[in-house]
Amino acid sequence: MAAAAPLLSETFEFQASQSWCESFKSKHKIRQRHVTKYVSSKEKRTFDELLRIAAEFQHQTSSVISNFDPDFVINTDQTGCEYRISSNRTLSFRGEKVTQVAVGQLNQLTHSYTAQYGLTLSGKLLPMVFICLQEPNSKFGPRVQQEVTQMMDKYKNVYITATKSGKLTKDTYNLFLDKVLKPYVKTEPFLFIIDSWGGQSDVSMYDGKFVDEDGMPTCSLKVIPPKCTPLCQPCDVYFYRQVKNYIRRLQNCPVLITLRREITSRRDAIKIHSLVHNQLRAPAFEKMIRYAWFAAKLSLDREVFNNVNDIVFPDDVHTQKCDCGKSAFARCSWCREYLCFECYYDRYHPDECTEYC
Ligand SMILES: [Zn+2]
Ligand SMILES: [Zn+2]
Repeated sequence: MAAAAPLLSETFEFQASQSWCESFKSKHKIRQRHVTKYVSSKEKRTFDELLRIAAEFQHQTSSVISNFDPDFVINTDQTGCEYRISSNRTLSFRGEKVTQVAVGQLNQLTHSYTAQYGLTLSGKLLPMVFICLQEPNSKFGPRVQQEVTQMMDKYKNVYITATKSGKLTKDTYNLFLDKVLKPYVKTEPFLFIIDSWGGQSDVSMYDGKFVDEDGMPTCSLKVIPPKCTPLCQPCDVYFYRQVKNYIRRLQNCPVLITLRREITSRRDAIKIHSLVHNQLRAPAFEKMIRYAWFAAKLSLDREVFNNVNDIVFPDDVHTQKCDCGKSAFARCSWCREYLCFECYYDRYHPDECTEYC
C-alpha cells in the first residue's frame, strides 16, 4: 500500500487483498520466513500517522502552488552517490556460502559524494547540478583544484565543491543557493520546497539572499515534514531513481566490461553527472519530471511519459549503429541520434550534438 499510495487517485483505486497478495507472492516467488526482528505495534501506528501528515502537507502545498509560475515552483534535494554505483547482487550457485565479487579499487565502493539537482513543476531542471566530493581536508589540493576548475569551465553545467564527509554542510548548502539557485530565480518570486534537514531550514538564510528590486523577499518556503519525503518529495518519489538508473547503465556498459575498463574516478563522477544533467534537461524528459510532482501528489496533472530507459536506452538500441560504424549504446535525448559508448561518453556527445546548444 505504501508503494501504491502515490499513484492512488479517483480513477485508480487499489486494495491489497488476500488474493492479490497470494498471487503476488507466487508470481515473485516470495515465501514465509522466520521472524528475525520484532518491532513494536507503535511503529505500525506511526505509519498511518505519517500518511496523515503527508496528506495534510500535500493538500496545503497544492493550494499555494497555483499562485506561482510553474517554472518557479522548485524542489531540490541531495542524493548520496558512490564513485561506483554497484548493485550488491550477483548470480551464484545454489548453496554457495560466501559470494565474492572482484571490483577495481575497493575504496571506490565506499568513497561517496553528494549530488544536488533541482526540479521545477513545469518539468525542467535547474541549469546546473551541484556536486560535493569527499576530501580529507574539506578542500582540494592545488593540483586537484586546477583539474576541478578546468572541468567546471569545460562542462559549464556542474558546480563542484568538497567537504570532509562528502555530505553537504550549511556552508556548502549556502554555496548551492548562491551558485545554482540564485542565478536561475534572480529577482522572481518563487516557491521553494525542501525537506526538514537542519542545514537548510533556517528561514533567515533565504530572506537575506533572495529579494526583488525593492528589497522585498521573493522566496516562499515550504518544508516537508520529517520522514514524509518518500511520500511527498518529487526528487525522492521518482526523480533520483531515474538518475541512479542512468548512472548504472553508463557504468555497466558492456563495452567497458569487454575492455576491463571502469568509469569510477573523480573525473568520471563529474563527467557522468554533467552528461546525465545535460540529457535530462532535454524537452523529451519534461513529462517525466512533471510526473515526479504528480507522484508526490503535489500536482494533479497525470500525463503519459517516457523514462530514461524509454528515451536513452530503448530496447532496439543494440540493433542500431552509431555514425562511426560501431554498435549503438544510447540514444541522445536532444538530437535522437544513436551513439556508441565512445561517441556518447568518451567524446562527450553534448559538445557535438546538433540539437543541444
Ligand atoms: Zn560512435
Ligand atoms: Zn545529440
